[in-house]
Amino acid sequence: MRVYYDRDADVNLIKGKRVAIIGYGSQGHAHANNLKESGVKDVVVGLRPKSGGVAKAEAAGLKVMDPADCAKSADVVMVLTPDEGQGDLYREKLAPNMKSGAALAFAHGLNVHFNLLDPRPDIDVFMIAPKGPGHTVRSEYQRGAGVPCLVAVAQNPSGNAMEVALSYASAIGGGRAGIIETTFKEECETDLFGEQTVLCGGLVELMKAGYETLVEAGYAPEMAYFECVHEVKLIVDLVYEGGIANMNYSVSNTAEYGEYMSGPRIVNDATKAEMKRVLADIQSGKFARDWMLENKVNQTSFKAMRQRLAEHPIEQVGEKLRAMMPWIGKNALVDRSRN
Ligand code: NAD
Ligand code: MG
Ligand code: MG
Repeated sequence: MRVYYDRDADVNLIKGKRVAIIGYGSQGHAHANNLKESGVKDVVVGLRPKSGGVAKAEAAGLKVMDPADCAKSADVVMVLTPDEGQGDLYREKLAPNMKSGAALAFAHGLNVHFNLLDPRPDIDVFMIAPKGPGHTVRSEYQRGAGVPCLVAVAQNPSGNAMEVALSYASAIGGGRAGIIETTFKEECETDLFGEQTVLCGGLVELMKAGYETLVEAGYAPEMAYFECVHEVKLIVDLVYEGGIANMNYSVSNTAEYGEYMSGPRIVNDATKAEMKRVLADIQSGKFARDWMLENKVNQTSFKAMRQRLAEHPIEQVGEKLRAMMPWIGKNALVDRSRN
């Protein structure tokens, strides 16, 4: 596996280009601001005129244009709109307007890997996929660090797609942490698997099941929240910093013994067998197809599930407890009025 760092990239390459960032959400605000602060002078943000992002991007000192207009003059068009709308965006706004020889870039491989859009043959197609939330891509950059990125090239008519991609990755801070060369297929399938089974899906269900078990047994919801949700970060921080043994060094021997005895009863052979089925659904394209069909019906069940989660007592209890810890809200990664 090839890993690149800042010393392997020519950050000046991207500085001389006009870069259009389409979308100003989690990833968009991070890429646009990091590029600008790395010395890319010509960054424009592509947004629909009524988008809530317009005021946020302008408040950050960025130039905002309609996506179709900024595609006309851009050397690199980075698509940071939601995956589910990228096909229509490409066909309606980008494909008819992009310059021949320009580059179309993505932060996730879903649309290209599953052929949800079909890039023109005369443009480069590459991916810079930060391995962390957009708000962290921004906050790590601001403290002089970075989030590791994956880089891949799908089309290279210019012959220097990889050089431009590495330069871009370096300018958003990726080269400080490591830029790993991969393919659209590998990034797409591993990313979907990670977020579904461990990072988002697995973790949320684990926290909810633990919380509900304690509350149903008559323990105070506040206790259940601290034990099964709040402390997750404190434990994960220790793993992040020094691995699992580092975490076990910090917790008590009692906790460590309980980990070995009870952990495999919770995540067991049946869990792993189900993970394999989830992976198969990702690889076959079933998941991508289901998600696109869900979008064809206006995200009806997606919105219902989001609403059901918002109404779960775990969210209300958490809100109450966080209000008692005002330092959590200070320096918050997510500030919906700005990013
Ligand atoms: P987001 O939902 O946070 O933001 C989307 C932005 O696009 C918003 O500003 C929205 O107004 C704008 N937008 C929506 N439709 C548009 C259109 N038709 N034209 C112009 N602007 C439009 O999105 P996100 O979570 O940052 O995801 C963007 C991409 O980055 C996706 O491909 C995603 O898979 C990838 N990615 C995201 C993360 C993350 O941390 N969220 C991590 C890695 C990769
Ligand atoms: Mg993802
Ligand atoms: Mg304890």
